[in-house]
Amino acid sequence: MRKTRQQRQIELETKTNEIIQQLLDWTEQTERPNLTQIEDEILALREQLSQAMLESVVSAQEATQPAQGERCPTCGQPLRFKGRRQAQVASRVGAADLERGYYHCPACGQGIFPPGSATGAE
Ligand SMILES: [Zn+2]
Repeated sequence: MRKTRQQRQIELETKTNEIIQQLLDWTEQTERPNLTQIEDEILALREQLSQAMLESVVSAQEATQPAQGERCPTCGQPLRFKGRRQAQVASRVGAADLERGYYHCPACGQGIFPPGSATGAE
C-alpha cells in the first residue's frame, strides 16, 4: 500500500508537532533543568523524529522498489515473496519497526528481507 507524498508530509508534520508539544510541556514542567537534563530531553525527542523520518523513507523505498528477481544470498536461487512482516531495523538514528516484504528461499529454506533495499543489510 503506497502512501502519497502528501500522506507522508502529514505524518511527518503530525509527528513533528507532537515533538514540539512534548518539548514545550517539558519546558513548563521542569524547573531550572541543568544542561545535562536539557540535553537528555532534546536527544530523546530528536530520536523520535529520527525514527519517524527513518520509517517514512524506508517504507517509501520498499513501496517503489518491490524486490524482483532477487536471489538468495546464500545459494543464489530465486526468492519467493511471502508477504509483508514487521521487522525491527537498527540504524545509526535508532531502532524502528518497519513493515517490509519478506522472502523465502525454496532451495535452502532461508527467510530474508529483500536484499538491495535501503536497510537490506540485516
Ligand atoms: Zn537459498
